[in-house]
Amino acid sequence: MDFSKTHDQELYQNTVTEFARTFLSDDVVGRDHDGMFSRDAWKKCAEFGIQGLPVPEKYGGTAADALTTVLAMEALGLGCRDNGLIFSLNAQMWACESPIVRFGSPEQKSCYLPRLCDGSLIASHAMSEPESGSDAFALQTTAVESGGEYVLNGSKIFATNAPVADLFLVFATLDRSRGFAGVSAFLIERNVPGLSVGSPIHKMGLRTSPMAEVFMQDCRVPVDCLLGKHGAGAAMFHWSMERERSFILASVVGTMAWDLERSIRYARERSQFGQAIGKFQSVANRIVNMKLRLETARLLLYRLGWLMTEGQNFSLESALTKLHLSECFVQSSLDALQVFGGYGYMSEYEVERDVRDAIGSLLYSGTTDMQKNLVARHLGL
Ligand SMILES: Cc1cc2nc3c(=O)[nH]c(=O)nc-3n(C[C@H](O)[C@H](O)[C@H](O)COP(=O)(O)OP(=O)(O)OC[C@H]3O[C@@H](n4cnc5c(N)ncnc54)[C@H](O)[C@@H]3O)c2cc1C
Repeated sequence: MDFSKTHDQELYQNTVTEFARTFLSDDVVGRDHDGMFSRDAWKKCAEFGIQGLPVPEKYGGTAADALTTVLAMEALGLGCRDNGLIFSLNAQMWACESPIVRFGSPEQKSCYLPRLCDGSLIASHAMSEPESGSDAFALQTTAVESGGEYVLNGSKIFATNAPVADLFLVFATLDRSRGFAGVSAFLIERNVPGLSVGSPIHKMGLRTSPMAEVFMQDCRVPVDCLLGKHGAGAAMFHWSMERERSFILASVVGTMAWDLERSIRYARERSQFGQAIGKFQSVANRIVNMKLRLETARLLLYRLGWLMTEGQNFSLESALTKLHLSECFVQSSLDALQVFGGYGYMSEYEVERDVRDAIGSLLYSGTTDMQKNLVARHLGL
């Protein structure tokens, strides 16, 4: 076992963090308040190469291995205060780009991947529906093949990036009686008649990441919009969710490191009863717990990245990592808020926002309960 980072890995992480500090953390308080997505920051990430991480060089990316990817995302979380922006990037990279890389036709790859990498296109993954969330394959959206086209009808909810997206990866059933085997995925451009996007949905956290409903009403798309094989939607969804679960919280390890650093600083500087609050054991213990969570989260994440890079099975580890990182993020951001006292509750201190952002991680990409179900299955329960 070797837990040391190479010189190049250290250098790479420092470069990513510096980039994120310099270009991605402007006025996050204001944009969070207004629910504003930053297209400018998105473009800057593209120029830097973030969106291209999972994409082969031939299509404008860098095809980074899993370990490099988790290091990049961790470093991004350390430098970038805009968790919503990072969440939007993740939503595109793992749930849209990766399935196109893995299952797309050569034409679909050449058409979409270069523009997703260079930031000129934004993609949204539309699976959840009003009546099907955790039970994703109970979806009601239908696709009917007719005269060289598919006709889609139905509606999607909670689609991250939808208000600004140019491309949608939509799941629909071709034949409900066939269950999983009836589901297919479609790449649909925003301007296709019959597809419309609802008003932005306001949410508790990740407010700089836009979200909306997506409606399909007699939405006709040519057959070459089908992604992968007819009826392979469920398998593709499982494949991409396993990757999304693995990477989507890598950045929160960086965020937790940032929260820990500033909590330590604050606990040293803030005095009450004539001494630094860090000298009170209850405050120090909170910070100790933050440190412990950071280290365990990082170990799980790096091990997962290593397993993936080595081509080993990572199904159990991806669920454990998603489960643990989300719970650590929630608890550590709450602990940071307690350390900052009343100031932590005020927006300008940028502590309360992490709490609101963290709660979402218990829900998206499979709720905590669903991750536990997966782990239990792996344990033979
Ligand atoms: C910030 C955010 C971004 C999102 N982005 C997207 C997106 O881009 N695209 C997309 O398609 N969806 C997206 N979602 C939707 C997300 O995938 C769903 O919210 C999630 O799958 C849960 O579905 P639900 O909200 O319908 O809850 P439900 O499935 O109705 O669950 C309600 C409660 O019941 C529990 N529960 C349900 N089934 C079980 C079970 N079998 N065992 C134990 N407990 C269970 C759940 O854990 C939860 O506590 C996003 C959600 C959030 C919060």
